[in-house]
Amino acid sequence: MYHAEVRDQGTDNGARDVVVAGAGPAGCWTARTLAVLGARVTIVDGTHPREKPCGGGVTGRALALVGDALDRGALPRCEIHAARFVESSRERSTRVPLGDGDLVVASRTDFDSALLAAAVAAGARVVRARITEIEQDASGFAVRTTDGSMHTPILVGADGANSLVRRRLARPFDRADLSIATGYFVHGVTSDEVLIEIAADPPGYIWSFPRPTHLAVGICAQADAGVTPAELRARTLAWIHAMKLDGGALEPYSWPIHSLSARSFARLTTCGPGWFLVGDAAGLVDPITREGIYFALQSGEWAAHAIAAPNTVTAARQYDQRVRDEIGAELIRAARYKAGFFRPGFTGLLADALAESAGIRTVMAGLVAGTQPYGTLKWSLARTAELGLAWRLVRSKWYN
Ligand SMILES: Cc1cc2nc3c(=O)[nH]c(=O)nc-3n(C[C@H](O)[C@H](O)[C@H](O)COP(=O)(O)OP(=O)(O)OC[C@H]3O[C@@H](n4cnc5c(N)ncnc54)[C@H](O)[C@@H]3O)c2cc1C
Repeated sequence: MYHAEVRDQGTDNGARDVVVAGAGPAGCWTARTLAVLGARVTIVDGTHPREKPCGGGVTGRALALVGDALDRGALPRCEIHAARFVESSRERSTRVPLGDGDLVVASRTDFDSALLAAAVAAGARVVRARITEIEQDASGFAVRTTDGSMHTPILVGADGANSLVRRRLARPFDRADLSIATGYFVHGVTSDEVLIEIAADPPGYIWSFPRPTHLAVGICAQADAGVTPAELRARTLAWIHAMKLDGGALEPYSWPIHSLSARSFARLTTCGPGWFLVGDAAGLVDPITREGIYFALQSGEWAAHAIAAPNTVTAARQYDQRVRDEIGAELIRAARYKAGFFRPGFTGLLADALAESAGIRTVMAGLVAGTQPYGTLKWSLARTAELGLAWRLVRSKWYN
């Protein structure tokens, strides 16, 4: 919850000193935006260059945010032309065409390195260390790292799903707000399609996202669904074989992803006195598609503008409100749809609808690309003129 007593932390010459914990998309983009706005920014992260367990799907809206700062031509990526929805039990799949620029897939080593380079080029300093402790005092935050200590009046928590900044300064996430993602990077295989199989048990989905040199194949399920990461990984392996995706070496990974309930989105924690949370540290991930990169970039940009504003107190309040209004409200709708979306009756109906209707395929393409808002989803389905199919989908009560 936002605290009203956020202080204005401007320095004598007007430039602000800010420490950003974490150099993922949220941290790099916060730092880059702050540096462009004239702040003195230090990013602390000891992991680069590194791969982050992730599909690596970057939607058109995410690329549009960072497009001017990245040399897109130099970013190794796969341009995705279709999402193939698989129903392995019926040995059936439906190809859903995507528009040009709707989705690219990149390795997170390449994507995050490009963002970090953009932040450094704009003037951000990087400390290659891990933050081990944070203590708040009267003038800001004492930040201890594996490479020494620093003090900062303003601290941004961009340190991901296990955020230390969040654990020290705000309420940690409930276990029910987390999902487990696990799977394999399959080296030596690529494609121009993503594969998606929506699963009812445990509720979630299995995916294959192609990067230039490998596939990122994974499965996700709620952390409290009663399935272990080992069971989920075995299921992924069986799927890799069933889909004939076998290639070279298999490299396993596991990582938490947020999947907040509507109630948790309604009480998001975004900032407090002198501190801001962005991206995964704030829980900003679509609970159905698990898209998080766009929300990481967007929240980072808004937080940077709030920090650089003449009146940081008012601007922090505006940051909090904007995240709630423009991200939280949309993700609350997704959270309300989630339970029904992964119900067995619905997944079967959706597979039939996708196979039969070009209009419904277009709506689904919008969900994959992040261009179909949940707020107008029922209306978009109804407008497909596939009234019988749309009516069966809506009547299946996949929404609450
Ligand atoms: C398996 C999986 C698949 C996914 N697929 C997609 C997808 O295809 N598309 C999509 O949009 N989203 C996807 N997501 C979600 C996406 O990965 C995240 O939402 C996104 O990375 C959030 O960015 P971030 O910068 O907030 O956090 P992160 O990318 O997690 O970055 C956090 C950074 O903080 C650093 N850090 C952590 N602790 C400390 C510390 N104590 N001190 C210093 N540094 C620290 C870490 O090293 C890391 O570099 C997926 C997630 C998972 C787990």
